[in-house]
Amino acid sequence: MTDVDRRDPSEDPRACSVCGVYIGFGGDEYCDGCAREIGGKPPLERCMGCGQRAPQEKMESVDISPEDEYYPTIRYLCRGCSGGASK
Ligand SMILES: [Zn+2]
Ligand SMILES: [Zn+2]
Repeated sequence: MTDVDRRDPSEDPRACSVCGVYIGFGGDEYCDGCAREIGGKPPLERCMGCGQRAPQEKMESVDISPEDEYYPTIRYLCRGCSGGASK
């Protein structure tokens, strides 16, 4: 049984299951945009230093809440603003 002519993006391991965009082998099931939209990845956050938006997992989280505050207030810094960029 050969059905090589059938090209369903949801069955192609190299394509995003939602929009069908090519991801490549070893990638996730969804492309970056779709993964964020369906909650599979953290949303984009705005850097409190320069205001640019970047994926949360690539940013430095900073707890700016006062010590007596029960709930933490988290802000994010991009790599450039957090000083983690290699020189
Ligand atoms: Zn997608
Ligand atoms: Zn920044």
